[in-house]
Amino acid sequence: MKNKLLLIIGCAVIALSAIFLILYLENSGLFAKPYNPPGALTTEIKLSDLGSASELNGNIAVVSVFADDKQGKWSDSKEDAEKISNIFGYTKLATDWLTEKAKGYGISLNFVTAGNNDSDLCYRASFDEVCIDIEKSKKKSIPLQWEYINNNIDSEKLKEQYNCEQVIYLCFFNPEEESSSTAYTVSFYNKVLEYPYEVCMIPYIYSATQISPAVIAHEMLHLFGAPDLYGCDLYDMNYGTTDDYVAYCEKNHKNEIMYTTFARDENGNKYKVFDSITNDLTDITAYYVGWTDNVPPEVEKFGLVHSQHEYYKQNKRHNS
Ligand SMILES: [Zn+2]
Repeated sequence: MKNKLLLIIGCAVIALSAIFLILYLENSGLFAKPYNPPGALTTEIKLSDLGSASELNGNIAVVSVFADDKQGKWSDSKEDAEKISNIFGYTKLATDWLTEKAKGYGISLNFVTAGNNDSDLCYRASFDEVCIDIEKSKKKSIPLQWEYINNNIDSEKLKEQYNCEQVIYLCFFNPEEESSSTAYTVSFYNKVLEYPYEVCMIPYIYSATQISPAVIAHEMLHLFGAPDLYGCDLYDMNYGTTDDYVAYCEKNHKNEIMYTTFARDENGNKYKVFDSITNDLTDITAYYVGWTDNVPPEVEKFGLVHSQHEYYKQNKRHNS
């Protein structure tokens, strides 16, 4: 009788120890599976509203907002004046380059940009938060900036004044130290956002690099639907691009502006260009910004989500 009781207790102790050991090992990460991001959920886009930056076509007003935030302010120093002057110059180079590329697809583009601080397309703002934040880009939600635009910028008046169908908003930040967070855009992809304002959020320096004409052109192309060609779609915002497709782009779109904003020398070393844009804009980006209706074969080959402009244009034709 006593032996039987001892046996039961013994077995119970062994069983409990085994459970604890398994739980411990599981928590230690020994059996943990690699993290699988949720990835792309979207398979098609059917939006009849593409926001303030709907078509990369016709007359477009570019509003520049120089914004202070918790990571840094724009001062009256000579250094900051030079940075701001650089940004005006880079924006002009970016819009001229886009206008030139559009011509190749029979598209007539005309940007109106701020040339200096006194322009009515130039604004100063201050936000009590860290604005360059990867979480905001993933959520596609920038309530403080949207409210600022809503309360301070008369977009309808600007459209009328400059005879523009569309307005885009470029917010420039001046972080004191560079961080790993990079420039991002908040634009319509697979859903209508709370506000129509489509915004580029661009820090002057980030990740050991800095703003350049190619960076501004790259971010502006996102506003009109262009996907990144250098990364797979982890957050359901990049047309279902996969690692295989990125490998294809490394081979076939090495100098595409949506693949890289750097130039490469003959040894393959990357470097920045500040007085021009040396990258290409190829059919894949032209398709995603609606410049051509021809679907590049790689879209089917890699199962990418089709351009948001396909449905948008059909719907527009249908309703006109
Ligand atoms: Zn990008």
